[in-house]
Amino acid sequence: MMKKISLTALSTFCLIALVSFIRPTETKAPLQRGLKTIIVDAGHGGYKKGTSGKYSDEKDVCLDIALKLGKKLEEAFPDVKILYTRTKDVHVDNRWRADFANKSGGDLFISIHANAMPPIKHTKYLGTRKETYYVKKGGKRIKKTRTVPRYSVYYTPNTTRYGTETFIWAADRTDEKEEFVVEQVGDSTEFVPDINDPEFKAKALLWTKKHFDKSLLLATLVEEEFASAGRLSTGVKQRTWEGIWVLQATGMPSILVETGFLTNPEEEDYLNSEKGQEEVSGNIFSAVKRYKETIEQKLNTGTSARIKPAATSRPTTVAVARKK
Ligand SMILES: [Zn+2]
Repeated sequence: MMKKISLTALSTFCLIALVSFIRPTETKAPLQRGLKTIIVDAGHGGYKKGTSGKYSDEKDVCLDIALKLGKKLEEAFPDVKILYTRTKDVHVDNRWRADFANKSGGDLFISIHANAMPPIKHTKYLGTRKETYYVKKGGKRIKKTRTVPRYSVYYTPNTTRYGTETFIWAADRTDEKEEFVVEQVGDSTEFVPDINDPEFKAKALLWTKKHFDKSLLLATLVEEEFASAGRLSTGVKQRTWEGIWVLQATGMPSILVETGFLTNPEEEDYLNSEKGQEEVSGNIFSAVKRYKETIEQKLNTGTSARIKPAATSRPTTVAVARKK
């Protein structure tokens, strides 16, 4: 009995401790809010052209699609703040993008990009040539000649690959994401977390995990929308190299959408056309709409169940093939 009382007392104490621990972050903690602020990020810009097709640069295609996406979001969700990392052809540092998203209290970060395949290298045998070289023999330099093959190297565009893919941060880098999730919580409240507190660490890990689930949900929905529009979706992937910063350093769910290959002539035309840009931004918009409904439903019903994409859930881990 005595033991039971002290246990109850102890758990009550723990509960109070936990509640008082949570309270300061309650209103603004990433888990507790719906979708209030969306950051729309057009990749590259200014002198950073990104990839290129025959006649267009990634930075311009990204900007057009990002602005169209933003407009659709503004019209559909007047209560949601839509912020842009750039609205013009200017260079924006990747660190600034993440910083801006964090300081603006973003709940979602959507980065728009376009893909490219590196050109194919060809080596053509042109015959032989004579080459002079020297050897040392008994303190003397002796001139010699030998016959070596001659090649010419040239490149042709790799036009075959096409399709879409959406990246989320690599789960094995959760530690790095967690750092920014913690900062984001710290920035958004007067509550100063002690990052060495094991309880806080556990919470930070949980938030990071939730962000991962949400990122995966949105990424999956985006690829589903692309597929249903007749595009070739190559799925959700984890990014471990280029573009990692905006995914890793944003303390919120974040995705990076590769909208197609500029090196593929049909996709370059599509991504530069009014129809194509309307469709691509429309697909991403529909995915955000479904995402918003899903997470708000979870908030309203208080379900803490893991968020799963509505349709077929894709594998979370896909090895990322190096693009360039
Ligand atoms: Zn890019």
